[in-house]
Amino acid sequence: MLNEMTHIPDAFLNAKAEELHDILKAPTLFHIEGINPQPLFICTLLHGNETTGLYAIQRLFNKYKDKPLPRAISLFVGNIAAAKEDQRRLDTQDDYNRIWPGSHHNNSPEKDMMQTVSNIMEKKKPFASIDIHNNTGKNPHYGCINILNPHGLVLAAKFSNIAVYFTDPKGVQSSAFSDFCPAIVLECGQASDKSGEDHALAYLETILQMDDLASHESNNLNLYHTIARITIPKTVSIGDSTDDHSSDIYLSALLEDKNFHLIQPGTEFAVINSTKEKLIVVNSESHEDITDEYFERDNNKLIFKKPVTLAMYTTSEKAIRQDCVCYLMEELRIG
Ligand SMILES: [Zn+2]
Repeated sequence: MLNEMTHIPDAFLNAKAEELHDILKAPTLFHIEGINPQPLFICTLLHGNETTGLYAIQRLFNKYKDKPLPRAISLFVGNIAAAKEDQRRLDTQDDYNRIWPGSHHNNSPEKDMMQTVSNIMEKKKPFASIDIHNNTGKNPHYGCINILNPHGLVLAAKFSNIAVYFTDPKGVQSSAFSDFCPAIVLECGQASDKSGEDHALAYLETILQMDDLASHESNNLNLYHTIARITIPKTVSIGDSTDDHSSDIYLSALLEDKNFHLIQPGTEFAVINSTKEKLIVVNSESHEDITDEYFERDNNKLIFKKPVTLAMYTTSEKAIRQDCVCYLMEELRIG
């Protein structure tokens, strides 16, 4: 199921994400030589509709077409079958960023593949690992890390002054690679946002030119810690507009512009039109239901009970059903 290649085919360099499946046929791990042999690992399209990483990498390789890379690159191109359909994942597939070592998912050929990629890369002792994603909702560009150590913080600080530290969900690529190298996730805004591509490209070039991470600072970081994740049970219907009167819950569209803003108590999260017991579920990082700690009902509204910061908030039903409504975060002070 996994291809391994030591050159980049010309067709790859200018392909659209939806064309990659026809070009590569399977998820592919490339190993490209550079002046410094210790590779930078880059990962893209773990989510098939998050295309910013692919287009940034194509531009990077096109820039270095006639000259050597400053450092070797190992590149993993993930869910090209979902990319063909412009989907995060196909309904028949596991989420490609939940099945890396440490995952609680059932065994599958895809899970074995991620184990194989991890084994191959662990032996190569990468300089760093960079996994590039997009958000469905509106968010600033930010990095995510799974371990709080100086090298990871430097990787994050080189991308943005905002970073998120999370330990749940399990089975994500960055978490698996954190066992053997500094690892970061880049969240580059919405896939349609070209500035995300420019930003990712500039970042990759910066990291490629670095000799070490130890001699750099991360003092500029505003670091957040994920404390909970909000989902909506399958049995609860999500409405678009309160005019339709037939759905159980209508999420506040205003919050789409409030990612990484501090939300005050009393702020409306949703309008509810249902007598069902559980309309949303707020799960802590250790999977306890802490809904009542953060939300209360006020007539036909669900409102925030205490101040909290949101990330990745979206009202897109497809995104909510495949992942979640948003994450709740608090600011973390270290040092
Ligand atoms: Zn993603």
